[in-house]
Amino acid sequence: MTRIVVLGAGYTGMAAAIRVATRSRRSGGRVTLVNPSPRFTERLRLHQTAAGERLADHSIERVLAGTGIDFVQDTVAGLDPEARRVRLGGGRELAYDKLVYALGTVTDVSVPGVAEHAYRYDDHAGAVRLAERLRSLEEGTVVVAGGGLTGIESATELAEAYPRLRVVLLTRGRPGSMMGERARAYVMRAMDRLGIEVREAADVVKVLPAAVELAGGELIPSDATLWTTGTRGLPQAREAGFTVDGRDRIVVDDVLRSVSHPDVYAVGDAAAVSRPFGVIHGTCQSGIPTGLHAGTALADELRGRRPRAFRFGYFHQPLSLGRKDAVIQFVRPDDTPRRGYLKGRWAVFYKESVSSSPIPTFRLLKRGLVPVSLFRLTAG
Ligand SMILES: Cc1cc2nc3c(=O)[nH]c(=O)nc-3n(C[C@H](O)[C@H](O)[C@H](O)COP(=O)(O)OP(=O)(O)OC[C@H]3O[C@@H](n4cnc5c(N)ncnc54)[C@H](O)[C@@H]3O)c2cc1C
Repeated sequence: MTRIVVLGAGYTGMAAAIRVATRSRRSGGRVTLVNPSPRFTERLRLHQTAAGERLADHSIERVLAGTGIDFVQDTVAGLDPEARRVRLGGGRELAYDKLVYALGTVTDVSVPGVAEHAYRYDDHAGAVRLAERLRSLEEGTVVVAGGGLTGIESATELAEAYPRLRVVLLTRGRPGSMMGERARAYVMRAMDRLGIEVREAADVVKVLPAAVELAGGELIPSDATLWTTGTRGLPQAREAGFTVDGRDRIVVDDVLRSVSHPDVYAVGDAAAVSRPFGVIHGTCQSGIPTGLHAGTALADELRGRRPRAFRFGYFHQPLSLGRKDAVIQFVRPDDTPRRGYLKGRWAVFYKESVSSSPIPTFRLLKRGLVPVSLFRLTAG
């Protein structure tokens, strides 16, 4: 019996756990999955939660039914990779032979005041707290810090859901700078239509209880500040002596094993995965393939086979612009924009298909099927 412990039941931990459980039944794998919440968090939809939308409740135990995976509801407090043990917040310890580290990332709170005064998408509860705050405001200003995809999705979602509130998007560079010019122009028009005030070249140096301070001293009043700029891995891996990058993500080899502790796989946002074009940045698009790959590689190891190298290339940048609009930028494997993009109704349909595909993907995986989904498009 090989004890396989998977830490974190997000998109990638679920994919890895189900994959290895279904593929190692006959070769003696026993899989345990640890997560603090009994509910699967659809991180892709946290901006919808912040806008007050009630999402479907996916119980992790129900999703895992029939797989034979043991679900442990607890937090990971620490790791002892030399003794191959995981310390849980509830006081219990789990011993493992192989580990999958899929704890995701949390918001980088290094800018003063972010930890105390900004709302963050670290978990479902964080998005619910923002929704409650916005619901309580008759009028006022919401500041969204960050002009990346999460910042734009949030600003448009909130502006559409709370038209009585002023929404200000602050960004160091240009919003959506990773997109092609035509798709970006579409995004700017959508934000203009929704009345969002965009401030480019805005460097937030401090978050205060009722304002944000820009470099140069200007204060922008804010009744609720959402921080979407920058994430980092949890401290557990660094504290346990794993080789991590500058953002505390576990550095992995071409099979996705920790370079310092090869009996540990790291996947999703928590892993620093190098490709010829650079280190993969945290997306579900890349994360689910890493989870599937780790599950397959572990099952191969259990059968005495050599695991294959991970291959991946980006395909798209899907971006919702509220519930009624969206834009999809198609990209090359290195995430640089291609000419093609989708907008409007077709893009809304496309984006919704992407966001809703993980749960059906897990169901297919349970039946041992390889889902032909957008998440599996790999290249390069
Ligand atoms: C608003 C928003 C929109 C996004 N939209 C897109 C998109 O359109 N397309 C795309 O590809 N990506 C998108 N992303 C990024 C995507 O959500 C992440 O890349 C993806 O969630 C990474 O999956 P993961 O499994 O690595 O981490 P997560 O999904 O964050 O899962 C980590 C899991 O670990 C658990 N965990 C955390 N700490 C502990 C602990 N101490 N002990 C035990 N368990 C713990 C968490 O509870 C969670 O279940 C979006 C992100 C946000 C915030």
